[in-house]
Amino acid sequence: MSATATDAPAVRFAAACKSFGDTRVLDRFDLDIPRGEKTVIIGPSGSGKSTLLRILMTLEGIESGRVEICGETLTDRFDGVERAPRGRGRLRKIRGHVGMVFQQFNLFPHMSALENVACGPRLSLRRSRVEAEAEAEALLRRVGLGDKLGSYPLQLSGGQQQRVAIARAMALRPEVMLFDEVTSALDPELIGEVLAVMRELASETSLTMLVVTHQMGVARALADRVCFLENGRLVEQGPPEQVLDAPENPRTREFLHALN
Ligand code: ADP
Ligand code: MG
Repeated sequence: MSATATDAPAVRFAAACKSFGDTRVLDRFDLDIPRGEKTVIIGPSGSGKSTLLRILMTLEGIESGRVEICGETLTDRFDGVERAPRGRGRLRKIRGHVGMVFQQFNLFPHMSALENVACGPRLSLRRSRVEAEAEAEALLRRVGLGDKLGSYPLQLSGGQQQRVAIARAMALRPEVMLFDEVTSALDPELIGEVLAVMRELASETSLTMLVVTHQMGVARALADRVCFLENGRLVEQGPPEQVLDAPENPRTREFLHALN
């Protein structure tokens, strides 16, 4: 039975195990994220950060343990291919809680910024074109792109494209937003504009944010809590000033030291 009480955490991993072949990516992984918390995940390449987010996005399944989003259990693999209608409905419901932004912006190249943001609500939420485009325009203004509604992705800078991608994910009104190294592919001078948008979203207290980054400036700017992940295990977690400035675990210290 899945608890749908509003006091269920936004995200819960309980003894979750995930392997690719012989590679154990998550090893009895536990993590609870209360609603509204901004959590930043750091850790070496290959430590399982993207896999965590992909599981929450129902793009990957787990082998054992439990994963919940807003009280809904993702018990199994959700390839979304051949599911009973009831299964598909549940999958859609779970996906509706979650939005994700990737390192590569993944915008539709043949659609304008406005169409990129409006298409999700039109298809998934059955909004009319007028309604979806009005909301898309408001979101694009919010991310500072009110003057780029008609621009196509190739006409936009990387930072602008990433802001469109954030607006597009927000258009589906998720409760949980996942960010996978969204500033990593950007030229340094473009990071600030994307980070500013993420900070603005973070001021929305009801939005749960789970942010993977290897840029400690991004971590500091956003995190209520920083989690250091290594080999699919949560090695250390705490407020940013503790984990980033006074890490207790030698592995965390080594990782942070190598970044400098
Ligand atoms: P991170 O995002 O922390 O760099 P990932 O979650 O992408 O790490 O990957 C964790 C481990 O799982 C790595 O060893 C990676 O090679 C492996 N892995 C990830 N995705 C796949 C896949 N689809 N098939 C096989 N191995 C994978
Ligand atoms: Mg990754």
